[in-house]
Amino acid sequence: MTAAKTDVRPPLNTPALLMFTISTLLLLTVFPWYLLTHDVSAGAWIGGVVLLYACGLSITGGYHRLWAHRAYQAHGSLKLFYVLFGAMAFQNSILIWASTHRIHHRHVDDVDHDPYSINRGLWYAHLGWMLRDYPSARLDYSNARDLLDDKLVMFQHRYYLPLALFMNIGFPFLLGLAFGDAMGWLMVGGLLRLVVNHHVTFLINSLAHYWGRRPYTIENTARDNDLIALLTYGEGYHNYHHLFQWDYRNGVRWWQFDPTKWMIASLSWIGVTRNLKRVPEFRIQRAMLQRQFERVRERLNACKNPSRLEAMQQQFEQELDAFKVTVNAWSQLQAQRIEAARDKLNDQWQHSEMRQQLLALEQALREQRERMQTMHWQPA
Ligand SMILES: [Zn+2]
Ligand SMILES: [Zn+2]
Repeated sequence: MTAAKTDVRPPLNTPALLMFTISTLLLLTVFPWYLLTHDVSAGAWIGGVVLLYACGLSITGGYHRLWAHRAYQAHGSLKLFYVLFGAMAFQNSILIWASTHRIHHRHVDDVDHDPYSINRGLWYAHLGWMLRDYPSARLDYSNARDLLDDKLVMFQHRYYLPLALFMNIGFPFLLGLAFGDAMGWLMVGGLLRLVVNHHVTFLINSLAHYWGRRPYTIENTARDNDLIALLTYGEGYHNYHHLFQWDYRNGVRWWQFDPTKWMIASLSWIGVTRNLKRVPEFRIQRAMLQRQFERVRERLNACKNPSRLEAMQQQFEQELDAFKVTVNAWSQLQAQRIEAARDKLNDQWQHSEMRQQLLALEQALREQRERMQTMHWQPA
């Protein structure tokens, strides 16, 4: 796809342009000069990393998973933390960020409607989309009525600029004063941290739609990438996220690096977060198996050896039948569960019986996935 042709380029977005130009220029000139001519305390470096994570997690845990996707609920104290450190990340107010992001999910990859469509190029998806008033990023908040009713969100939106300026300049300076290195904190915890914060988040819009694997869906360009997850507080499992956007986890496996997920889950133990939404394991396994079937089908289409093709096709049909049987059994179980809930027949026995059946079905899919992986689908 190519970008939609427009005769006149949209006007420049001056505030964003100024912010990015000033912060980048200062980082490239004043920052190295300061490092060469002054000693920056260890405290300032440590503080810079802490602030980087506080801001990053406020974007991923707050702006993204809490407000844009409603993947869980949070106590007011955590929301306030997100409001302050999200403003410090300087990526616009929660209202604008979440509304834009909901449009991204709705129209993902569409060159005219996805605000940061990767099909308009890596640079555009990373940063370019913010430098001009592109029609695709125009907001009317019709998709964010819940946020318009949220007092804290609206407070941040109303006082966004003074809040963001104070958190980026005044706050690190005051912290630095307390630790005896005001300018060091301003340089590292203010300037360097801000630019790193920006580009780390922007990677999710650019590289996470460009580089990596697609184990769950090829309906869109989103990718899973462990390296990007490492840099983005766990948001690199973007293929999973685009299919199951309301899950509070992006790295759905326990071992996948997703500090945002760990933070939300551990805060639930002390009641700061609650109602954490998880996609049922069966659906996740089903999506992965569907992708496996698609891949095998591609290989079958490429097979030129008739006798080999026949054997593979037979195997394929058998696996597909087994898959359909499991999925049907699961659909029936879901219907039974709904009925049981409606008739209030949720007694202990029935509940545990159904749970056992569900676990068995999940296991059946898991085993089928392993079987499919070890089979020789490669055309001879
Ligand atoms: Zn995306
Ligand atoms: Zn999202």
